[in-house]
Amino acid sequence: MNSVYDVIIIGAGAAGMMCAIEAGKRGRSVYLIDHAKKIAEKIRISGGGRCNFTNLYTDYKAFLSKNEHFCKSALMQFTQADFISLINKHGIEHHEKKLGQLFCDSSSKNIIDMLLKECDGANVKIEIETSIKNIEFIDGKYQVKTNRCDVTCDSLVIATGGLSIPKIGASKFGYDIAKQFGLNVLDTRAGLVPLTFNDKLLEQCKNLAGVSVDALVSYKKTSFSEALLFTHRGLSGPAILQISSYWQEGEEIIINLAPDIEVLTVLKNQKQNQPKHDIQTILFSILPKRLAQSICEDKDISGRIADLSDKKLMVLADTINNWHVKPSGTEGYRTAEVTIGGVDTSELSSKTMEAKKQKGLYFIGEVVDVTGHLGGFNFQWAWSSGYVAGKYV
Ligand SMILES: Cc1cc2nc3c(=O)[nH]c(=O)nc-3n(C[C@H](O)[C@H](O)[C@H](O)COP(=O)(O)OP(=O)(O)OC[C@H]3O[C@@H](n4cnc5c(N)ncnc54)[C@H](O)[C@@H]3O)c2cc1C
Repeated sequence: MNSVYDVIIIGAGAAGMMCAIEAGKRGRSVYLIDHAKKIAEKIRISGGGRCNFTNLYTDYKAFLSKNEHFCKSALMQFTQADFISLINKHGIEHHEKKLGQLFCDSSSKNIIDMLLKECDGANVKIEIETSIKNIEFIDGKYQVKTNRCDVTCDSLVIATGGLSIPKIGASKFGYDIAKQFGLNVLDTRAGLVPLTFNDKLLEQCKNLAGVSVDALVSYKKTSFSEALLFTHRGLSGPAILQISSYWQEGEEIIINLAPDIEVLTVLKNQKQNQPKHDIQTILFSILPKRLAQSICEDKDISGRIADLSDKKLMVLADTINNWHVKPSGTEGYRTAEVTIGGVDTSELSSKTMEAKKQKGLYFIGEVVDVTGHLGGFNFQWAWSSGYVAGKYV
């Protein structure tokens, strides 16, 4: 079979489907291909099965990229309000969980069904379990060979996402195609990912596995104030996932385990006013019990506060308010929510997502060097970049 389409989109995830819908609505013939057994698997597993599909406070400042301004145009052309309108049109019940994060009330499947319905209405042809064998650009057209057929198109859109969660279809395909056409690809690394530790700290994390605390986690000038979770491998929870996108290997992060409390002041007051109180009991009012016990054991501190030197109290307070830790690494792409880096934005038009030096070739979604914070920003980038490409392909 040899077919001709106006547009071929490789990758039927959030960005690819959005692009297909918009292009189809414009009357373009669209062929949407995915190599996986099911489309949009990341939408299905996202947000604990309820898909945190956007964020009410979407702003370019919630994204990491070599060019922090690149995402502005797409985010303005298709905003969080536009996606919410689409959700409302389909009657999908949703709620704000916290910090502007919007989730489906029942299931992320609602979003996938909505996208499929929209694709259907826009006459998009979708084919799964289709892998690409070869792509060539000949006489102004893209010739795409798949395991099923040879197809030709004017506009080729790469929406194959990043490297995270390889077992549900992630591949480096998008980066390879960018390189094939001479586009620069920035180094990639796992983002929104738990941090791992070695030796004594790992033992401490294992002992505390399951304990969660609201913390302020900082790396250089960037800080996030959210929950931190101790796990069998190290540290996780929203605050850690957020900082992991900024953290660089070999560097320290600083954790404030009681950001609303100046612990040294509290301890000094206690020593003066209730000198017979036990130090662990005092800490139970500041930290989860197991965490307080673990810190006291680690610092070899026990007994009445009156018997503890000011130096010991300072060490204790510093551990709680200013804990310096050096991660040994991250859990990597196996559990990362996103991939940092990717196709260099300087190679693309921010208005259309088309490659500047390769007519008709577009890159959208996570394959591009634009990565959102935790909280629905990554899907909003997928919708926005997919939408704008769909307007121009
Ligand atoms: C566990 C988890 C939870 C997440 N939760 C959220 C959340 O709640 N909110 C949020 O905003 N973000 C979340 N994210 C991030 C979000 O899922 C991604 O940023 C988003 O899916 C990126 O969309 P995309 O279309 O660019 O890529 P993807 O959604 O990854 O889609 C890429 C598609 O391309 C296909 N593909 C890959 N290689 C090939 C190839 N060689 N040939 C053909 N097809 C190919 C894949 O099978 C896939 O279907 C989560 C991520 C993970 C892993």
